[in-house]
Amino acid sequence: MAKASKETPMMQQYWKYREEIPEDALLLFRLGDFYEMFHADAEEGARLLGITLTKRSNYPMAGIPYHAKDNYLPKLLAAGKKVAIVDQIETPQPGKLVKRALTQILTPGTLLEENQLDAHKNHYLLALSSTKKGFHAAWLDLSTGDFQLASDTDPRRLLPIFNALDPREIVLPETISPGWAHREDLRDWHEQFDRFCLEHPVTFVPDFQFEGEDGARVVIETLGVHNLNGFGLDKDHPALGAAGALITYATDNLCAPPKNLRRIREYRSGGTLLLDPATMRNLEIFKSAQGTRKGSLLAALDRTVTAAGARLLEQWLAAPILDLEELNRRQLTVKAFIESPGVASQLQESLKQVRDIARILGRLQNRLRNPRELGGVRDTLDQLPAIREFLGKIDEPPVTQLLGSVGAFDELRDFLSASLNDELPGNLTDGGIIRNGFDAELDRLRGLTTDNKTWISDLERDEQEKTGIKNLKVKYNGAFGYFIEITKSNLPNVPEHYIRRQTMVNAERFVTEELRQKEKEIVHAEEKALAREEELFKAVVARILAESDALGSTALALAEIDLFVGWAQLAREWDYCRPTLDEGDQLDIRQGRHPVVEQMLKADLRGFSTTQSFVPNDTRLSASGEQIALITGPNMAGKSTYIRQVSLIALMAQVGCWVPAASCQLGLVDRIFSRVGASDELARGNSTFMVEMNETANILNNATPRSLIILDEIGRGTSTYDGLSIAWSVIEFLHGESEAGPRTLFATHYHEITQLERTLPRLRNYSVSVKEWADEIRFLHTVTEGAADRSYGIQVARLAGLPPKVIDRARTILNELENEGNVLQQTLREPNARPAPKPKRKPAADPVAGDDGAGQLDLF
Ligand code: ADP
Repeated sequence: MAKASKETPMMQQYWKYREEIPEDALLLFRLGDFYEMFHADAEEGARLLGITLTKRSNYPMAGIPYHAKDNYLPKLLAAGKKVAIVDQIETPQPGKLVKRALTQILTPGTLLEENQLDAHKNHYLLALSSTKKGFHAAWLDLSTGDFQLASDTDPRRLLPIFNALDPREIVLPETISPGWAHREDLRDWHEQFDRFCLEHPVTFVPDFQFEGEDGARVVIETLGVHNLNGFGLDKDHPALGAAGALITYATDNLCAPPKNLRRIREYRSGGTLLLDPATMRNLEIFKSAQGTRKGSLLAALDRTVTAAGARLLEQWLAAPILDLEELNRRQLTVKAFIESPGVASQLQESLKQVRDIARILGRLQNRLRNPRELGGVRDTLDQLPAIREFLGKIDEPPVTQLLGSVGAFDELRDFLSASLNDELPGNLTDGGIIRNGFDAELDRLRGLTTDNKTWISDLERDEQEKTGIKNLKVKYNGAFGYFIEITKSNLPNVPEHYIRRQTMVNAERFVTEELRQKEKEIVHAEEKALAREEELFKAVVARILAESDALGSTALALAEIDLFVGWAQLAREWDYCRPTLDEGDQLDIRQGRHPVVEQMLKADLRGFSTTQSFVPNDTRLSASGEQIALITGPNMAGKSTYIRQVSLIALMAQVGCWVPAASCQLGLVDRIFSRVGASDELARGNSTFMVEMNETANILNNATPRSLIILDEIGRGTSTYDGLSIAWSVIEFLHGESEAGPRTLFATHYHEITQLERTLPRLRNYSVSVKEWADEIRFLHTVTEGAADRSYGIQVARLAGLPPKVIDRARTILNELENEGNVLQQTLREPNARPAPKPKRKPAADPVAGDDGAGQLDLF
């Protein structure tokens, strides 16, 4: 940006800031009642906001009224811009350059104002670095103070949590130079990481900001602690550099250190059920395939009534756990609320009145002081006695424990009710925050103003009487203050002591010494009252902040209660069961259902757009027993729904929720992998087959015997022979030759593969039933043991509306192919690619015996 040679003092001041702030930020410069942008910023800002670009002294400028800032800022931020705000920090005096200061730089990850945040979502800022010791990360939600760090020698274990955090902004060192960059085995991680960075706003900062020792110091200072031992962290923790960089970045943008950080937690990927990004998409956990919240698991499980509860749900879904004790606590809390439905619904009513304390505290601590926030704290505290009373009615340990975390705050509540007005202004300078009768000095000042105002309103009548001028008026305007207005015809009767101020067309305006005096008193008293009110306001804020730790834990407990009460409601309404979790390798689900499809079908039933409700199915798997379930059945039978339902049930069980089944026993799962659908990948320009093979490679390379894998239609993206062979060998690989392997559900339309049951002892064939009569089929959606006998491709195609001529011709071709008894069949019936492991048990009745139709090619 070229600086003009001769600039006014104000523009020189402007340039000083423009040079100070990052180039990619727009500068909003307060000028009287406007925030102005100049030069290139003005051009870009005007375009983004659709406002007029004007010229002043030959350079472009564009402005927005200062009070409408909140309407415009979100648009700039949504367009991916950072916005620096330079405010006036003193009352302007004529002829003097007003003092200004940079008060905040708004970036996607450092927003705090209520209207800039999505109430139901966390707002993470994520910093990443790598050293020889591995890969390091720290993340922070400034609005709630949630602060975590993590370090791992294998970056692949961290990617799932990054994706789940879905950060608003990523901070990276300028020269991110990983020691692992050339490791061949990390190729797919690099691809995924690059994509992750492309999908989120990235800001680069100088490398030295990631320096470990400085990081530890900055973190210790910001948390206001002596050392980090209390958080179980060593001062050499390799992720402290990233944590320090985060704080530095936040400090630069807030123009002050963040004040609401109290603790830092270590995230350990070993304690978390990992979901790789593809699985998170495939299972539609946070978003449906259409990209909407509706249709996602998140939406199906969300019965929260508070924003903090909704955010907690999101956090828990992003990081399911392996900690049996904590899972038990969650399950039992849900159980307690299920058993006391009356109390649960009373709690829910109270929670509806609760405000977002975590975020309010965050703003108050970071100097954003809106009087309404204090009302939010008060209104929340007002609910606590009832909430505590309701919780007290349930005599179950986990609920009693929650009750212990909900503070009473009797004194603070009384103090807030006594000090704050019922209705509060959105601005400190509007006054009217503190209740009458709370502070004698404020009452006195307000009294002065009122008395003087009464004197003025009496003045009109008094002066009319004294002067005999009936239409004498006492008026007020912003420029002159109070004055007496006399029409031209009455001027002869104006008393001597009236002082002329202004001549109008039909009237003259006067003041008197006395009126001036009163006016001064009013202004003075008003100013003093406001100043006093501000002092009191600060005292109230300080009083709240003095209890911020206890308020923070109460807020967290309320969010948990909200979530558990919601889950209890969900479990009752949909008849969920409490899963039994253990360290074993089983998975045994009776009458399982798909949580999302089940809810959607019910809605459709109500709307008469379907006549079928969800058909429950059993699942039995174990790493060392029935490890692989191979599911065949025609398209549309419900294979995908079934295998997804199993993984969703496992996931739900490991966040502590009850599950849609009659019973469920689950040996904890360390990772869920999935390979289903690839539609969104196509948009990225990757071929279906490439994506499919990438995802499959990831699974085969990373699955452990504790993992759960669902695979849908592997090999579909290539020719039948290729696809079939790949599917075949993938299953053989997953089965392996050892005693146990990852629990796997494999859905396929390649009927040939069902023959593997003969050679792989831990593989079992299942099929999704259809009923056939005449030439029609009906989908029963029941999963039964044994392979499907036919693919019914032609019948399904017919249901889909293919013209009868095409259907007839297809039938003829099919008959011909079947009669030929094609070569493929021969080959596959005698697999000799490698010796198959010896069956450990006698196979069940040969599922493919007499299965003459099994060899048909699935034409559709
Ligand atoms: P496939 O993978 O075998 O082609 P899908 O799983 O996509 O079949 O299911 C096809 C349709 O059948 C879906 O629209 C789904 O709503 C319905 N469906 C699947 N499973 C069930 C079930 N258990 N009960 C009721 N409807 C189901």
